[in-house]
Amino acid sequence: MGEISTYDPNFKYDVAAQPGGEHIKACFSCGTCTAGCPVTEVDERYSPRKIIRQVLFGQREAVLSSELLWYCETCYACSAYCPQNVKFGDVMRALREMAVAEGYVRREFLQRVHNVDRLAHAIRLDLVRAALETWEEPEPASLAPAGEAVRAKIDATRV
Ligand code: SF4
Ligand code: SF4
Repeated sequence: MGEISTYDPNFKYDVAAQPGGEHIKACFSCGTCTAGCPVTEVDERYSPRKIIRQVLFGQREAVLSSELLWYCETCYACSAYCPQNVKFGDVMRALREMAVAEGYVRREFLQRVHNVDRLAHAIRLDLVRAALETWEEPEPASLAPAGEAVRAKIDATRV
């Protein structure tokens, strides 16, 4: 827990005023979102339920400066089962917008995120092309032909 002076009682209202953040105050902390989140499965520091509690408690700086904000894969599994229609995937989008607008994110970091997004998109296309190339064959579609192209793209990002 941080110092009481670092808590901002207006944080939850500011988030609720953002597109995507409107339903955050309806959360009753059941934890269904966290239980279904694929990111939590690989890194238990990441918890949608906990992030919502931090927003409702007013931990503005802790939330907006955290690298965990950028872990969400926007798969919306959390939104599908939320009994309160909080739409946490959209809440995360709103929090990221706020982090950028309030100066918690450096320009170089945003450029890296952008590069990773472009790489992921290029790799996805390679995998789709590889699957389509084997579409007419009697065996199930294989992604093996994409292996070399994918490896080359990943290698090109290494310094
Ligand atoms: S599933 Fe919905 S109500 Fe439950 S903790 Fe997550 S956001 Fe809150
Ligand atoms: S949208 Fe983000 S928080 Fe929700 S389940 Fe997917 S990765 Fe987890």
